[in-house]
Amino acid sequence: MTERFDGGVVSAWATCVREDNPGHMTLDGTNTWVLRSPDAGPGARSVVIDPGELDEPHLRRVLEAAAPVGVVLLTHRHHDHADGAPRFAELAAAPVRAVDPALCLEADPLRDGEVVEVDGVRLDVLATPGHTTDSASFLLREDSALLSGDTVLGRGTTVVAYPDGALGPYLDSLAALRAAVDSVGGPVRLYPGHGPVLPDAGAVLAAYAAHREERLAQVRAAVDGGAVTADEVVRTVYADVDKALWPAATLSVEAQLAYLRDH
Ligand SMILES: [Zn+2]
Repeated sequence: MTERFDGGVVSAWATCVREDNPGHMTLDGTNTWVLRSPDAGPGARSVVIDPGELDEPHLRRVLEAAAPVGVVLLTHRHHDHADGAPRFAELAAAPVRAVDPALCLEADPLRDGEVVEVDGVRLDVLATPGHTTDSASFLLREDSALLSGDTVLGRGTTVVAYPDGALGPYLDSLAALRAAVDSVGGPVRLYPGHGPVLPDAGAVLAAYAAHREERLAQVRAAVDGGAVTADEVVRTVYADVDKALWPAATLSVEAQLAYLRDH
């Protein structure tokens, strides 16, 4: 059994407030990230990434760690990351930004390639569709850290949540993240949306890409062997995976079948 990740201070720049909402999809719970420049003076504002669910005690704990807050960013629209954002924005009197304009409050949507800057915290915004169409990741160069939301997790692999998510964009996003990580020079740590901090984001990205290729080959073989529906493919390809994860696996298989139809 792997050790549970409880969050806390992970670097001079970053603190994780881990929500108490463990589950199959959330692992140990949702990681809410609080980023603040160690070089900025007292009163410097923070950046909060993914307030989590509408969970008042959690949001209060985040506020305690984060106030004053310059901006709230969302990695994607799923409830375990975004549902608490309006309430947190109210508590912190801060705007909310996301790729999806519908999630933004008092601010513009995030654009791929822009740099979000708040009191010495500079984040490269990377649009990384795949897990969902609106997924984004953030590179904090000064801390050599990649904040990956659910695009890359701290443990296991993620779901391509078909039909919102799609495999072609997901593979492109993994490649874009590898290029971004390489551009930092030296090891880059992974600060994921769920699960522990990992020391080498580049290695994790390579493993994710290899895993996707492997699963795709298995799905192709299952289809060649006569499997037609996603359920039939899951029974063959995900036989080694906990059955509780099969509903999620079915979404990923739907995404892979759609990808194979187009490629
Ligand atoms: Zn999540």
